[in-house]
Amino acid sequence: MHSDLNLLKTWGWNHHHTSPPIAAYVHIPFCRHRCGYCNFSLLANRDDLFERFLNGLATELSELQEPRPVQTLFLGGGTPSILPPPLMQQLLALLRHWLPLSKGGEWSIEANPLDIRADSLHLWKDLGINRISIGGQSFDPAKLKRLERDHSPDELDRAIEAARSVMDSVSLDLIFAAPDETPEIWHNDLVHAIHSGLNHLSTYGLTYEKGARFWGERARQIIKPVDEDTELEMYLDAIDTLSSHGFEHYEISNFAKPDQACRHNQAYWRGDSWWAFGPSAARYVGGVRSVNHRGTLEYLRRLETGCSPVIEREELTLDQQWRERFVFGMRQLRGVPWQSWQSHVPANVRESINQKIAEHIEHGWMHEIEDHVRLTRKGLVVSDSLWSEYLD
Ligand code: SF4
Repeated sequence: MHSDLNLLKTWGWNHHHTSPPIAAYVHIPFCRHRCGYCNFSLLANRDDLFERFLNGLATELSELQEPRPVQTLFLGGGTPSILPPPLMQQLLALLRHWLPLSKGGEWSIEANPLDIRADSLHLWKDLGINRISIGGQSFDPAKLKRLERDHSPDELDRAIEAARSVMDSVSLDLIFAAPDETPEIWHNDLVHAIHSGLNHLSTYGLTYEKGARFWGERARQIIKPVDEDTELEMYLDAIDTLSSHGFEHYEISNFAKPDQACRHNQAYWRGDSWWAFGPSAARYVGGVRSVNHRGTLEYLRRLETGCSPVIEREELTLDQQWRERFVFGMRQLRGVPWQSWQSHVPANVRESINQKIAEHIEHGWMHEIEDHVRLTRKGLVVSDSLWSEYLD
């Protein structure tokens, strides 16, 4: 064990802290290829590194010093499902040791439709995974091609069907506002998803991220993004169509059938603390936010030489903690219980947040219902531009 790394302390853990994290995120940084819109921390087509990565991850996890039970565990990436069965078994055994799931806990895996087969699903389920999040993005062949996805609509249909027959909970990611996409194409995706028997959907407007190939192609006008009004129309269509078919819109980008909200993500939005492991992983423990190096090779090199993979560490002041808790909480459609929080919030933060809330209610972007402050439909649409005002 690399006790000289002393990661527990770096992460913000101290033994007197009364509420240990009960959520954990693990980043698996591998994909078969890199989609043009993606700037996540990952290596494409580097199966040769799988074993070395699991060894590095084992070192990082061993810094927990003892098993730390969690209520939710999220295996994201990248494409965690890419690992072949023996390595998947090794990974899940490692996680079951260091981050044992409490009874009734939620353990999610992000999976590519091509990896979702009866044998892999049974393996994942037997080892404790009970929720699958499918990176499908669309059922339209041309849109899938435009997004450079490596599966067909039929393969996605088959994957959903297989996942539903084995897992308790099946979620699908859908992207809207892909280049050349029309509102009709998006509406068809929504209708298809509704009829697929899913119990959770995450919908994201395509973003052009620095570092992703689409970013440069947009700058050189090879890609023409969908205009803002059309993108807005698509977002509102998702809210209306999914809400009228039994999905609760519970977070800006997330929709769930009753009792099927993603509990792991809710921990972030509640402002709880969480562990995180793997390249680029960001954690929040004991009021300290820290982030690992995003380069997989550098992450490994550091762990292999007894160095910390953490490259950023910030201890949040009480003021910052409350501001962030407000902003994350407001992403949920039910809003935050601001009236009950007020007596705990330092006076200066309380006053500045109250002033902003009043302004945003005036604009029709927020409203107060009993003791909660919430976004309105008008506010949902502009929400991204509001948060920085609360964090200052
Ligand atoms: S979008 Fe998903 S599948 Fe594509 S490169 Fe990024 S993480 Fe991998």
